Formats: sequence, C-alpha cells, structure tokens
Amino acid sequence: MNTIPAVLITGASSGIGFTYAERFAQRGHDLVLVARDGARMEALATRLRQQHGIAIEVLPADLTQPGELAAVEKRLREDQRIGILVNNAGMNVGGSFIDQATDDIGQLVALNTTALVRLASAIAPRLAAAGEGTIINIASVVGLAPEFGMSVYGATKAFVLFLSQGLHLELAPKGVYVQAVLPAATRTEIWQRSGTDVNTLSGVMEVGELVDAALVGFDRREAVTIPPLHDVALWEASEATRRAMLPEFAQQHAAARYQVVAGSEQ
Ligand code: NAP
Repeated sequence: MNTIPAVLITGASSGIGFTYAERFAQRGHDLVLVARDGARMEALATRLRQQHGIAIEVLPADLTQPGELAAVEKRLREDQRIGILVNNAGMNVGGSFIDQATDDIGQLVALNTTALVRLASAIAPRLAAAGEGTIINIASVVGLAPEFGMSVYGATKAFVLFLSQGLHLELAPKGVYVQAVLPAATRTEIWQRSGTDVNTLSGVMEVGELVDAALVGFDRREAVTIPPLHDVALWEASEATRRAMLPEFAQQHAAARYQVVAGSEQ
C-alpha cells in the first residue's frame, strides 16, 4: 500500500473506538466505522469528513449476530484499501458470576472474543500476502487480574492478550504488526452500560489520554501497550518469569511434589 491505508474500527459509536476514529481521521486515514448505532456514527462521520476531508463509510452491525458479523468479515477480506483493523468493540456484564445470566455471558463472550478473532482471521491472510498492515486489539488490565472480581470479562480480555501476543509472533515476520492495548478504568459509557457509576471510581483515565498513549505505543510498534502502568519494569519482569517457565514444561515425569510414593496413597 503506497497510499495511507483505510482503518476499520469496531465499536466506533462511543468511547475508545470513537476516539480512535477522531485520531486516525486527524492522521488523514479514510475510515470504516462499525457498531450498532448507525445514527451516532453518521453524526461522527459528517463532522470528521468536514474537518479532515477524508472518506468515511458507516457500516452498522451487531457483531454478536453471525450474519452481520459475516458482512464485516467479508469487507475485511475483500477491501484492499483497509490496512488497519481496530478490534475495539466490547462489553461487560455487571454483577458476580452467579448473578450474571447465562445468555448475557454468552453475548459477552461472543462480542469480546468470537467477533474479535473472526475479524482478525478475516483480514490477516490478506495483510500477510501484502506484507504490511496492522491489527490493534483492545484488551484490558482486567485480563491480568482475577482478583478484580470480573471473571468472565477478564477471561475474554486474557484471551485477547494471548491471541495478540501469539499473532504478533506469527505475523511480524510477514510484515504485519499486531498490538494489544490494555487500558485500566477509562471514562466511557461501558461503565454505565454495565451498571456502575464511573464517578464512584478513583484513578479513572480520560479517553483522549488513553487513546493518545495507545497511539504512542502503536507508533513505536509495541506488541503490548499498557498506558496506565507507570513502572514498565513490572510488566517486563512478569513476562521474563513466564518465559523462564517455557523450557521447563517438556518433562517425561511429573514434578516431585506430584510423585506418588508407594504405600502412601489410600
Ligand atoms: P463503550 O463506550 O461502551 O464503547 C463500546 C463500543 O462497542 C460502542 O461503540 C458500542 O456501540 C460497541 N458495541 C457494543 N456492543 C456491540 C455489538 N453487539 N456489536 C457491535 N458493536 C457493539 O466502551 P469503551 O470503554 O469505549 O470500550 C471499548 C473497548 O475498550 C472494549 O473492548 C472494552 O472492553 C475496552 N476497555 C474499556 C475500559 C474502560 O474502562 N472504559 C477498560 C479496559 C478495556 P453500539 O452500542 O452502537 O453497538
């Protein structure tokens, strides 16, 4: 791609995705905006077209509906102009695991994991064939923290982080950049949508600062960008510890603590 690639952003009607749309528009990228609320995206598109003279298409879709998701996948597979995917659409469900309805959990998993990986799968082969392009996946620090009491949401975000790290390793040699972005609490509608008043929380980042920081990581081609983490040495140490385990896994025998001593078991 010799021209500036177009960017397809999911969850572009509010919050982080909306702000990515503003920032990529400022950078001169054409946009394809995806979310359910077409009217909100049309209003954003009208303003950004006027301000930046770029081409914007609004593609309303409920990404939990297989047919609507398939239309976005088709677009990513076929539209050679799209060189960047921002996999941002996501949701949370309030309450503890035993209070959450099974169907709501199904929706959460469908949006945060199934849709995200299907969209990545739709675009990745084309980007790899072109030898360039980017997939940005919005994960969360909650994916590192079972202690936060958001088990299903956090599990979906752990999936996004793992997937991104794996795809970064697989696709970087083919010229494709994959970035995981891990926000912590950020002032967007996701809190209200899942029943929490964001004003009751402390340490909440404004969405503009979050996206600007994520784009610093993008420009540096970081694999994992954690805007709220001030001491990056903590993340690096955690990764080093994880990697140190890897050569230890291939063992013919169980660890000594699991060895059954003859006569000691009933
Ligand atoms: P948000 O303002 O609620 O935005 C969520 C976006 O996803 C909206 O554009 C929404 O648009 C779209 N969306 C929701 N359900 C959808 C569906 N079924 N199909 C298609 N689009 C759908 O929240 P946000 O904070 O910007 O969230 C963006 C991402 O950041 C999410 O992945 C979230 O998990 C992650 N994140 C947020 C925080 C935080 O504290 N805000 C922290 C860590 C990670 P429609 O309603 O128009 O469909």
